[in-house]
Formats: sequence, structure tokens, C-alpha cells
Amino acid sequence: MIRKTRLFTPGPTPLLPAAQFAMAAADIHHRTPEFRALYTRVLAQLKEFVGTKNDVIILSSGGTGAMEASVSNLTSPGDRVLVLSAGKFGERWSGLTKAFGCHVDVVEAPYGSTFTLDQVSAALKLETRAVFVQATESSTGVRHDIKGIANLLKENGSEALLVVDAITGLGTTHLDMDGWGIDVLIGGSQKAVMIPPGLAYLAVSQRAWDRMEATYNPRYYFDLRKERKNAAKGESAYTPSVALIAALGASLDYIAKQAATPESPEGNLAEGRKKLVDNAETCAAMTRAAAEAMGLKLFAPKGYEAAAATAILPPEGTDSGVIVKGLKSKFAAIVTDGQGEMKGHLFRIAHLGFFDYMDTIAIIGALEQVAVAAKLPLPNFEFGKGLIAAQNVFAERTK
Ligand SMILES: *Cc1c(COP(=O)(O)O)cnc(C)c1O
Repeated sequence: MIRKTRLFTPGPTPLLPAAQFAMAAADIHHRTPEFRALYTRVLAQLKEFVGTKNDVIILSSGGTGAMEASVSNLTSPGDRVLVLSAGKFGERWSGLTKAFGCHVDVVEAPYGSTFTLDQVSAALKLETRAVFVQATESSTGVRHDIKGIANLLKENGSEALLVVDAITGLGTTHLDMDGWGIDVLIGGSQKAVMIPPGLAYLAVSQRAWDRMEATYNPRYYFDLRKERKNAAKGESAYTPSVALIAALGASLDYIAKQAATPESPEGNLAEGRKKLVDNAETCAAMTRAAAEAMGLKLFAPKGYEAAAATAILPPEGTDSGVIVKGLKSKFAAIVTDGQGEMKGHLFRIAHLGFFDYMDTIAIIGALEQVAVAAKLPLPNFEFGKGLIAAQNVFAERTK
């Protein structure tokens, strides 16, 4: 059969065709009225997509650039900070905060799990200046309890700012930045917003803007206050990734349109985002049910599975690479193996962004084919068991 390449990876994710066309047509200079109109519109759309009244800043960088900006802009050397880590991206927070000279306390949960609020509470000090965490840990497919952590900080009357890497959380998890009291919420372009890598965005609370007046870690290219000043005039401080900004506008239009009604054919971004989250939740629930029906085990604990990506364990004694390679060689379907020391021990199927029912059924069908072709040791496996489970979940959730 011919092979049609499809990404099932938690970033980069499949591209929205309308966004690709917008990129190709984005032949505009960034110091012109045309760009200012585009940038102003996209920044306003992003606020609605994030679901906040706070200012949103766009950076022309990978998601890690926005993580670094939140550390360099919000901390000073010697600041005591708390990192909540349960995977490769949590470890990135530790690396970044240490690189900027913070005194770092770490609550570390084993890969494939999350920390308890008691652990967070015990590690929180009077002098903790900021807490850094992921909304969803893409390396393990685990969702952390951001609302619980935000509440805990509030109850303790903590001065600590809550900085959330929601690079795969935005568009896959219901997050209420303003209601819960998140101070910085970070997203990336190659995740739920369906465009290529190269843009990061952060929503920043007033408390965080105030903190920046006093912090003094070095920053130049990623100076958030400078970007905010320029954004108010419809510009960025330096040459931005114009094409990706045009693509982002097209993608946010598409997300809004998912909530179109006859009265409002343009749709609505807040409602569109909810649909995007529900879409990811449904694709994830279908995939979890299918994996379990096939006799495979999930890595994330019950109730804490991320909708961004499902991490599945291979059968005992099998390297997950066999499944990853099987899907690629037979179907050109790209799923990801475990990261770092998790390589060989799990594989991940993504649901964030431009994935739908059809994609989900296809990857489950392909996984069944690979299970047989690779003779995976799954004693009760039969063709169709995974697909039936997924069909039932879809029918139940979309009744
Ligand atoms: C992808 C990802 C990042 C890193 O983004 P880059 O664009 O690769 O820098 C950070 N955190 C999480 C949770 C991610 O999924």
C-alpha cells in the first residue's frame, strides 16, 4: 500500500491547511500598518484563546524561550523557587532556574505519576518567590492538578508567583488563569494551535508585571516589559516571525469557527477553545480505552491522564521501539518513543490540535495491525477489540 505520512506526536503536530496558506501569503514588513493590524488582532485573539484578561506576549522562539523568559524576568539570583517535576519538562524548569542562579527546591515525583498537594505544601517556604510546574507533562502523558496548586498558594497567602508551562496544556485542558490565580501561562505554536514550531506565547498577570519592576536577572532579547510596550503599539521589539503570526491568526479563526452558529458564522474563541479541549479529551479517552482493551497498560495514573498525549506501555519484555518502528514502516504513522531514560519503555500518541475522530480510529486500527505483525505478547488480543472500545467511548461521549 502507499504510505501517507501522518504525525501523531505531541509537538510538532499536524498543520492546519488554512494556516499554511496564510504563512505562504504573509509577505509583509513588520513596521507597516498591515503588520500592526495583524499583530493587534492576533494578540487579542490569543487572550480569548487563553481565556484571560491579562496581556499576552508573543515571542519568536520555541516554547523553551518563553520558559526561560519567565525565569529571567521574574527572578533574581539567590531567589528561592520551587520546581514541581515529574518528567523531562519538569527537569527543564530545574535546569533553567539553576542557570539563572535561583536557590531551587524541587518536589520530584517518579515518571508516570504526579505529586500530592501535601508534598507541595511541605516544600513551600515562606520565602518561596515562584513555583514552576507543567500543566501536562508531555514526556509521561500525566496531567498535574494546577487548580489544586493555585488554591494551595492562595490559602497559604503565599507571595510565590505560579508559573505554568501549559505548552501542551493549552487547548487540551480547561485552565482558568484569572479565576484560579495563575501568574504566567505559557503556550507554544507547534502544539494545540496547529502551526509549525517557532512561536511561544505567555499570558502574564499584574502580580507578575509588578514583580518584574524589582527583579534583576539578565535579560535582553526576552525582555517581557519591552515586548509589552511594543505590543501596545501593534509591534514587536525585534523582527518577529511574521509568517507564523499570520498562520496563528488563521488557526485561531479556525478554532473560533468550531463554535459557529447561524447567528455568528465567525464563531467564538472561548467556545471554540472548549470544543478543542473536548475534542482532545475524546480522542484521548478513545485511545486509552482501545489500549486497555488490547491488553496494554497506561503509564499515567487513573484520573491524571493528560488529553494532550497518551503514554502507553509496551507488553512486558517488548521494547516500545518495536511499536514505534512498526507504525512508521507499515503506515508512515509517527508516534514518539519515551524521552531520555524512558526510551524503549513507552510510546506516546498525541491528541492535541488538529486531530479528530478519523485520525484516532486510524491510529488504533494501525496499532492493532502492528500488534499482529510484530507478534506482541498480548494473550487476549483479537482484531477489533481496540476499535470496538474506541467506538463505544466516542458514541457515549458524543451522544
Ligand atoms: C514541547 C514542550 C516544551 C518545549 O517546547 P519547545 O518548543 O520544544 O522549546 C516545553 N514543555 C512542554 C510541556 C512541551 O510539551
